[in-house]
Amino acid sequence: MVEKNRVILTLDEMPRKWYNISVDSPVPFPPPLNPATREPMPPEPLMELFPVECIKQEVSDKRYIDIPDELLDIYMNSLGRPSPLCRAVRLEKYLDTPAEIYYKREDLSPPGSHKPNTAVAQAYYAAKEGLETLTTETGAGQWGSALSYACALFGIKCKVFMVRISYEQKPLRKVIMNLYGADCVASPSDQTECGKEFLKDKAKYNGSLGIAISEAIEVAMKDPTAKYSLGSVLSFVLLHQSIVGEEVVKQFEKIDKVPDIMIGCVGGGSNFSGFCYPFLGKSLRKECKKIDIVAVEPTACPSMTNGEYRYDFGDTAKSTPLLKMYTLGCDFIPPPIHAGGLRYHGAAPSASLFVHEGLIRSVTYPQEEIFQSADLFAKVEGLIPAPETAHAIHHAIVEARKCKETGEKKVIVFNHSGHGLMDLSGYEQVLGI
Ligand SMILES: *Cc1c(COP(=O)(O)O)cnc(C)c1O
Repeated sequence: MVEKNRVILTLDEMPRKWYNISVDSPVPFPPPLNPATREPMPPEPLMELFPVECIKQEVSDKRYIDIPDELLDIYMNSLGRPSPLCRAVRLEKYLDTPAEIYYKREDLSPPGSHKPNTAVAQAYYAAKEGLETLTTETGAGQWGSALSYACALFGIKCKVFMVRISYEQKPLRKVIMNLYGADCVASPSDQTECGKEFLKDKAKYNGSLGIAISEAIEVAMKDPTAKYSLGSVLSFVLLHQSIVGEEVVKQFEKIDKVPDIMIGCVGGGSNFSGFCYPFLGKSLRKECKKIDIVAVEPTACPSMTNGEYRYDFGDTAKSTPLLKMYTLGCDFIPPPIHAGGLRYHGAAPSASLFVHEGLIRSVTYPQEEIFQSADLFAKVEGLIPAPETAHAIHHAIVEARKCKETGEKKVIVFNHSGHGLMDLSGYEQVLGI
């Protein structure tokens, strides 16, 4: 008998709408504030920075938003959506656990992570608006690669500021961006006024996501044909990522199960939210049971777990509106861990609110532990995960081991947000191979 351990949706079953959880939130989302007045920010000034359609989505009060046909075409034919939901039978066997472990394959996109789900949407809206360039920042290089890829599909230019420590640790990421036609510079750079200021401060030389964001915003604001693109944190980004969770809902319907535990790693919160919110929404609408939803962070950058819940800037130069979120402070420079995508001082306002309200929870693990689990996952399942993804894998293993002790047959699912084939030097260093 052949076992069917991959739940796949046909192209006809592909969800055609993004899900906006603000409609189902039991408490209203705190609005972004203008830092000068501390009054709620109207959306209009943000439309000068981001593609207009994205900001309309940011403030939308519709539960579902239609995905344009051109994007559905790209989701299906370029990104290979719907992506499979796989059961980690070999891992279950290795752990000798009564739990069932599933993972959603977001590593199968051409750039290798979930990030193109929003990158193609942002490039599409930018191209439609007649823009010539999108600027952005990147930590580990995944977002820069994803946006470069998306801009190439729509024939627009892409300028990427890459956190210097990652630029040096992961030089091949730059090659990917260049292959897609993008311009990639190490941040802080001498190409912006704020970059020049940061360069004077030795402590800031390695860079941070907050610094790179400041540089990308500065370039976008000075060029009328350019706008800025963000790969996480904002509601419209999480909205685009909801395609992941909408598929997961349909996939669990197909096998007639509801997960007990859903797990995602959190940098800014986009893969986690995209993956969990459709199920969280169902449970808020009382259409399914309550699910234990777990956000996993690195011990080195524990924004949700140890941060303060307050208004803070999204970037180090304090150029963004104030966002209410769990934050370690916008000046916080995290240690140079290999999970570069998780080195962000804050977290998505909606996910922060849900942690604050007790609807989801967060945990942290140190780098050595998550790499041990990634090593195990590679050996038994055959996939080499990104160090970011390894955080989610590690917590899934922790939960599955608990089930072994208690005998509980929990259904555990995590988001396999990206592959680690560009992170092999991290594996080499941490595991000593
Ligand atoms: C960027 C990235 C993350 C972290 O970003 P989120 O917005 O929190 O999802 C996680 N995993 C992978 C593979 C990434 O590339």
